[in-house]
Amino acid sequence: MLPGLMQTTPLQISGILTYAARAHAGREVVSRSVDEPLWRYDYAGLGERCAQAAHALRALGIAEGDRVSSLAWNNHRHLELFYAVTGAGAVLHTANPRLFDEQIAYTINHAESLVLFFDRNLLELVERIAGRLTTVRAFVMLSDEARLIPGAVGAVSYEALLAGRPMAYDWPVFDENAAAFLCYTSGTTGDPKGVLYSHRAVVLHAMSAGLSSAFGFTAFDVVMPCSSLYHATAWGLPFTALICGSKLVLPGDRMDGASLHELIEGEDVTFTGGVPTIWTMYLAWLEQTGRRPGVLKRVVIGGSAVPKAMAQAFRDRFGVEVLQIWGMTETCPLGVVSTPTPALAALGEDAMLDAIWSRQGRLQFGIELRTVDDEGHELPRDGESAGALVVRGPWTIRRYYRAEADVADAEGWFDTGDIATLDQFGFMRITDRKKDVIKSGGEWISSIDLENFAAGCPGVKIAAVIGVPHPKWEERPVLVVELHEGVEAATETVLDYLRPLVARWWLPDEVIIATVPLTATGKIDKKTLRARYGDRLS
Ligand code: ADP
Repeated sequence: MLPGLMQTTPLQISGILTYAARAHAGREVVSRSVDEPLWRYDYAGLGERCAQAAHALRALGIAEGDRVSSLAWNNHRHLELFYAVTGAGAVLHTANPRLFDEQIAYTINHAESLVLFFDRNLLELVERIAGRLTTVRAFVMLSDEARLIPGAVGAVSYEALLAGRPMAYDWPVFDENAAAFLCYTSGTTGDPKGVLYSHRAVVLHAMSAGLSSAFGFTAFDVVMPCSSLYHATAWGLPFTALICGSKLVLPGDRMDGASLHELIEGEDVTFTGGVPTIWTMYLAWLEQTGRRPGVLKRVVIGGSAVPKAMAQAFRDRFGVEVLQIWGMTETCPLGVVSTPTPALAALGEDAMLDAIWSRQGRLQFGIELRTVDDEGHELPRDGESAGALVVRGPWTIRRYYRAEADVADAEGWFDTGDIATLDQFGFMRITDRKKDVIKSGGEWISSIDLENFAAGCPGVKIAAVIGVPHPKWEERPVLVVELHEGVEAATETVLDYLRPLVARWWLPDEVIIATVPLTATGKIDKKTLRARYGDRLS
């Protein structure tokens, strides 16, 4: 091979920050912190404070490769840690405050973090787990000096730590394959597993997310991530927004309809994103109040399947386009995005929307997808053959942190645990998670499809389907629905609604009206549902 003669500048996260601070210096960042007035600055200001934070990290004795943890919401101080920690060559472990105490402590110990940064309203949690933390030697509250509560852990304030430090930092240049973020899966089965993102993976992922095949941000966009900064870096939005020069709005921990609306309307948000449950609440709030979502143009939804009724409601009532994404912690997290193509447009508007709304999204450059049968043979891309979804590419996991062996095979393929189809349009559709598939009389019923239909029933807020052991059919679907506040519906109404929509043998054997439990990442908690209702049909 003849070596190319171009520069081999490493892809580093600090490069995104210095670019934005120069090229989009005046573009705003607006942030809602715990119990503080809205914070406003711009990318130049972000660059300066990240420099101060990097100096503070050095003063705390943090060296390249060291891990520090955050327990924090979507706010500017957490954003600063995203850039300062990784820019200085250390690794940010974004702990998920919604996990159980033992799991949070487990991840921080597994990461061997030396410092824990946390938001003020998480002090109690930190005090509860502090005794179990084996490596943390300093606690920093993401707060100003006046509002600091040192608590039993003797926390210092983040602002005091930054105060007076130089506003420039000579960001070190190092190998782009160095670790930057440590994100743990939510541990629905067993201990959480650590996914160690490299600088190269984060930068390539962020650049790719900015393409028009994905989010296609411009410098005129105002981007508000409602996906959590602690969950797979909020889908990389805090990087893509800076690369594209979009204004960034950080909503803190307040995801209720009124709080989101205040920012959507007040800050002219054009693009936002999060898990479906947030948008169920926001749509209900808009309905109740008769308000409109300002100049909002697009909402990206992922983490769980997007109910068609949700995409329709956004579009028909408010002219807002819904993009669905599929991804996972192990893929940084973006895998596919549901943006239209000429081949779909040629089907006509209704057919195109139908096609888009029934699929998770289309292939993106940089992440290869395949479906395989039980023997590992590739399945045809015909939109019908469903099999295990495997993926590979520069932002796909190779090995979990501190694991002995690779999780991807010798050719790089990583088994996602999802069952999917791929089609001739280059779109992927998830039919189920392997462990949620319902096997009825030797045939498969897709819990996702059933949930999607049931979510369209008037009055239904969340629909969850589980496979319940059945003496004759092996398993049968049971549907649990949570209704909107003040709505009363008979289980028969839900069944009548489903009858014309699904094959007869897909009809749930039972409909239960109850609150649907959610996991730490906002997904339907099927494990709890199975424990609760698993014996309904025996
Ligand atoms: P966890 O820690 O719960 O695994 P992830 O966010 O990494 O958290 O979960 C990834 C999984 O979420 C995927 O493997 C898939 O099952 C599910 N998922 C993500 N996006 C979608 C979507 N748009 N439709 C259906 N399932 C999705």
